Order: sequence, then structure tokens, then C-alpha cells
Amino acid sequence: MSDIKYLNQISHQLSLFEKTLKRYKFRCPFCGDNKKHLTKTNGSVYEVNDKLVFKCYLCQKQGFGDLLELVNKNVFNEYMKEKYPQTKSNKKELLMEQERILALHQIEHQKRVSEFRKHLQKLNLSLKDKFLV
Ligand SMILES: [Zn+2]
Repeated sequence: MSDIKYLNQISHQLSLFEKTLKRYKFRCPFCGDNKKHLTKTNGSVYEVNDKLVFKCYLCQKQGFGDLLELVNKNVFNEYMKEKYPQTKSNKKELLMEQERILALHQIEHQKRVSEFRKHLQKLNLSLKDKFLV
């Protein structure tokens, strides 16, 4: 389970962060948690199907990604990259790579054509004679 490394990276930014047997609890950063009881921790992260889930039992806010985004933008960006590797920039890189390969093929092709031309010239022929174009 890879989500835990993201939680570990933001845990020091979560007030009263504590690991219990089944979950992690802390003061909810969305609602600020219970104002009367300053040691109450309604923010909760627990594991569901090998993924971490965030829920606040006070404001009902949910979403582990939203929690990361609110607490630490850099960690959130890393998390999104891992979750959705096919982002726009990756697609762009892929396209550029394909274009580079295509360009290499064209260079290779032109080399072959010019070598073939030289070969024909040696034989006193031209492409025109050969292909009747
Ligand atoms: Zn809350």
C-alpha cells in the first residue's frame, strides 16, 4: 500500500496526529475540529481496499487527496502523479518521443535513398530510368 508514504509526509502538519489500531486520527484541518473540546480528533484516515480514505466525523468532509491538497501541495502533486501518471505533460512527452523516432526514421530513409542514388549513378542510371517516373 503506497498511500501511507503520503500520510507520513504530512503527519507532522496534522494537529494531535496519532496512530491507533485501525486508523490514524488528528484534528480535522478542514473545519478546525471541535472548538469546545480541543483534544477531540474527528479527522480520521483508515484503509479501505488497500487505499487510504479520509473522513471527518464532525464536518463530514471526505477525500484523502483533498486532505493532501489542503495540507501540503507538494505531497499532493506527487500523489496525483502516482495516481494519474497519464497526465497532459506525460502525453506531450510521449508525442515528442514519437516525433523524435519518426524523424530518426526519416533521416535513415533519406540516407538509404541517397546511397541508392549513388549506387545507380555508378551504374549510369538514375532513379528516373529505374522507376520510369
Ligand atoms: Zn472536519
